[in-house]
Formats: sequence, C-alpha cells, structure tokens
Amino acid sequence: MLARIARRQQPWDLVIIGGGATGAGIAVDAASRGYSVALLEQSDFGKGTSSRSTKLVHGGVRYLQQGNVTLVKEGLQERSRLRRNAPHLVHSLPLIIPAYDWWERPWYGTGLKVYDLLAGRAEFGRSRIVSREETMRTLPTLQPDHLKGGVLYHDGQFDDARLLIHLMWTASEHGASVLNHAPVSGLSKNTAGAIDGVVAQDLESGRELRLPARVVVNATGAFADQVRQLANAGSERMIAPSQGTHIVLPRRFLPGDTAVMVPRVGDGRVMFAIPWRGHTLVGTTDTPIAAVSLDPRPLDEEINALLSTVGRYLRQPPSRSDVLSVFTGIRPLVSAKPTHVTAALSRDHTIEVDPSGLITTTGGKWTTYRRMAEDTVDRAVVAGGLPQRPSATASLHVHGYDADAARHRHLSTYGADAPEINALVIQDSTLAEPLHPDLPSIGAEVVWAARFEMARTVEDVLARRVRALFLNARAAVAMAPRVAALLGRELGRDEAWQRSQVASFGAIAESYIL
Ligand SMILES: Cc1cc2nc3c(=O)[nH]c(=O)nc-3n(C[C@H](O)[C@H](O)[C@H](O)COP(=O)(O)OP(=O)(O)OC[C@H]3O[C@@H](n4cnc5c(N)ncnc54)[C@H](O)[C@@H]3O)c2cc1C
Repeated sequence: MLARIARRQQPWDLVIIGGGATGAGIAVDAASRGYSVALLEQSDFGKGTSSRSTKLVHGGVRYLQQGNVTLVKEGLQERSRLRRNAPHLVHSLPLIIPAYDWWERPWYGTGLKVYDLLAGRAEFGRSRIVSREETMRTLPTLQPDHLKGGVLYHDGQFDDARLLIHLMWTASEHGASVLNHAPVSGLSKNTAGAIDGVVAQDLESGRELRLPARVVVNATGAFADQVRQLANAGSERMIAPSQGTHIVLPRRFLPGDTAVMVPRVGDGRVMFAIPWRGHTLVGTTDTPIAAVSLDPRPLDEEINALLSTVGRYLRQPPSRSDVLSVFTGIRPLVSAKPTHVTAALSRDHTIEVDPSGLITTTGGKWTTYRRMAEDTVDRAVVAGGLPQRPSATASLHVHGYDADAARHRHLSTYGADAPEINALVIQDSTLAEPLHPDLPSIGAEVVWAARFEMARTVEDVLARRVRALFLNARAAVAMAPRVAALLGRELGRDEAWQRSQVASFGAIAESYIL
C-alpha cells in the first residue's frame, strides 16, 4: 500500500481520512465506480467506534417507537442488502422482547408487525407473539416471576471489525490504496483556498506522506471536528459526543441462540443481551462526554447500570466478577445543524461540503454505511468535477463472499478465505494450536492477519482480527506473548519489539478488565 501511494504522482480522485465503517464504505463505493482512491487511518482499521458496536444490522425498533418510518425502512433495506452481499459476516438473529405486563405483548406485537411490513420480504423471519412456556423454553435463564410471555422478532447480527477488514479488502481489490497507522495531520490548499491534498505520516517509518487529491473526504467519526478545523480553524463544532458501554459475560447467562431485547429501561434506553461468539454481550449506555479519545474508558456507573439492568431480567443476576470484557465506543452524534449541509436531512447521517471543498460525512449507523457512502461519493463527484458514474455497491459482494460459511465453524467470518487459513496449518501443524484454552482462535489466524489483513501490532490482532480483547480481556492478555512471537516472525521484528508490544497491549487491555 505504501508503495502504491509513493508511486502515484497525479492527484487521487478521492483521499479519505478515517478507516471506520464510513471511510471503508466510501472507499468501496468510489473504487468500484472506477475512481482512484486512497484511504488513511491514524491507528488500525476499526480502532474507533466501528469495532465497538452492538453488532446488530437493524432498522432500529427504537426509531419505530419514535415514529420515524423513513429511517426504519432505509435501515431494513440496507439490512437485506448487507446480508445478501456478505452472508459470511451477517446472519439472522432471533430476539425476544419479554413481557411482564399484560399490555406489552399486544403493544410490541403490533409494532413488530409494522417492522415486518416495512421490511417487505421475510428474509430474516416474521415476528410473532410467544407464550410464557415457549419464552422460558427458548430463554431458560430469564426471570420467570410475573412473566406473561414475549414477542419474537428478527434482526441481523454481524461481526463489526471483521466486516470492516473485509470491506478494506474489497476496496483494495477494486484498486483503492488503504493504509493503517497513518494519521493525517494537515490539509494543503491551492491559491484559491480550495483543499488539494493531505499531509500524513507513516507511523512505522516516521516518513511524511503527501497525497494530492481532487476531493478530500473527512470520515473520522467522533474526530470529525478536529479535521474540519484543519480545513478551517474557525469552524463551529458539529459533534456532541456520547459514549456507549457494553459488558461481555460467559455464555451461561444466555445459552441458546436467541437474544433478549428490552425496549425501554429506566431512562428510555434500549437494552440488549445477545449471544455473540460463544459469549453474552450486554449493552448499552448513553453518556454524554466532554472530549473524544481513541481509547474511551467505561465509567463505573455505566457498568453498575448494565449489571443491575440485565440482572432484573435474569434468574441469576451477574456480578462484576462475571464480566469477561468491557468496552466503550463513542457515538458521533451531530449536535448543531452544520452550515453547509447538502444531503437529504430525512436520513440520520449528515454530509457537509464546506467552502474549501472538504466533505465531512458523519452520524448514521453501521447498518447504513453503504447508503452513506453512496450519498457521499455522489456529492464528491459534483464537488470534484469527476466524471459521473453510478454506484455499484447495492449488489456488490464483499470480499470472502460465501453463502455457506457456517461449514467453516469458528473460521466462518473469514468466508471463502477459511480454506487458506486451514492450508497454513497443513504447512505448519503448530499453527493449529488454540492461543488460549477459553477461546477458539488459532496461531494460523495471526499469520493470516499479518500476511493478508494488514495487522501490524498485537492489539490489531487481538482486538480487531480475532476479537479476543472484546470477548475475554484476561485471556487476550495471556495470548499476547504468543501473538507477539508469531507477528514478530512474520514482520521481521526482534524480541525487544515483541516485549514492548506485549507491554503496550497489557496497558490497553487494562480498561477492558474489571
Ligand atoms: C455503543 C455503540 C453501539 C452501536 N451499535 C450499533 C449497532 O448495533 N448497529 C449499527 O448499525 N450501528 C451501531 N452503532 C453505530 C456505528 O457503530 C457507528 O455509526 C459507526 O461505527 C461509525 O463509523 P465511522 O467510520 O463514522 O466512525 P469510526 O469507526 O470512529 O471511524 C473513524 C476513524 O477515523 C480515524 N481518524 C480520526 N482522525 C484521524 C486522522 N486525523 N487521520 C486518520 N484517521 C483518523 C479514527 O482512528 C477512526 O478509526 C453503535 C455505536 C455505538 C457508539
């Protein structure tokens, strides 16, 4: 990727700042239309919010409660597209809303019929009212006292960081150059004051990178204001950041394949308890914060709130000592309506084109990343005077496309790449060993991540390639020395590098451990 970037003399059609869902989607959309694209991520792909979501591909039952039918419909349409284009990464997830009051089953049952209707074809499965017996059979750990039954419905579930890696790969297969560990620190302007490039740094070599561009897109999520201020020091803030925390518990708290959804807890939030990769994911909170950070920390009151809320719905309430991992992501909520917004405002994403030509895309959700990307590239084509070409992503397969990925068992999210990971094991049988007895990840995945998925650090592997940090942070810390050794061998790094990697990973993991 570095060589591709260094070789290019002419301006790129698009340079994208930020390697989360928004940036990756834009890179895929623009590259597959045939534009020349470079994407720069300051840390690793998905280091920001895009690896820290609830991992639901959904229309948003919450928006339905608010009566925002257009948003729900758009989310449901994207939900279907994503499952069709990336069946190895998205599957249907049954969820039950437990009913403890007499009115809840007819009320939520009717709402979810509307959800079904808006979804159109029943690709994910129809909703239905379920009896108390069926609810308890499906969710045996649920609190049975006063339970009247429930409403069963379906949404999509996906692995956020893995989808992101596959999107980066898709973009690169269409010719995009995507680079991680390369922060953008400046924007260059021509004599007329229009932005004509970015200045970045390759963190590994320390070298400066200068990329001339016809259009620069700011897809930095919660960091959007910092980049907007590089373009225009006086620009008003647009993001009101708020953080959301999840806890991960052992599978015994929610055995089976069905999730629990509580539409209204205390302050009006939604609570999910979801089976995820052999564990139970519980979230989320919504806490306004003053400043954004790449490593947001969970607050004690968030953890207490999650434990007490989920505890009310389970026969055996979990305690702090049951928490295997805790992680926090920042919602890039758009506070003030920016002055230069040009996109349709019925959406929950915002696209701003400022007088210098900088395009900022923010808000939205993972589910609608493709739609956000299409809208952004349409704007970029106009702003940069690029030749008009229609978006092709509505039916574009994501790298690793495999309609029967479940047969790859714990390697299913790799889709069509899974046999190649198994082939590494045939060459070197030590790579078949699990990296930890409590998690299924094997050494071959580390080698694969280093060779083909641009993993450069122990954190890149354990947080966003094999997800160990998010599933069981103590196990991830125990895995770090072996991962450092494998990575060191692949990347030609010495033992001092390996030791410092283990130390810095340990420091990051601290905030994931209670
Ligand atoms: C708690 C929580 C739960 C959520 N759950 C869901 C869900 O279940 N389903 C759903 O559809 N959506 C969900 N969302 C929303 C979804 O996760 C976000 O909308 C999405 O991830 C935002 O992606 P992004 O690319 O805009 O931002 P980010 O993922 O934050 O990416 C921005 C990137 O820009 C990089 N960057 C910043 N500055 C620079 C710079 N100067 N140079 C280079 N790179 C830079 C950052 O390092 C970062 O990686 C959730 C959000 C939160 C907070």
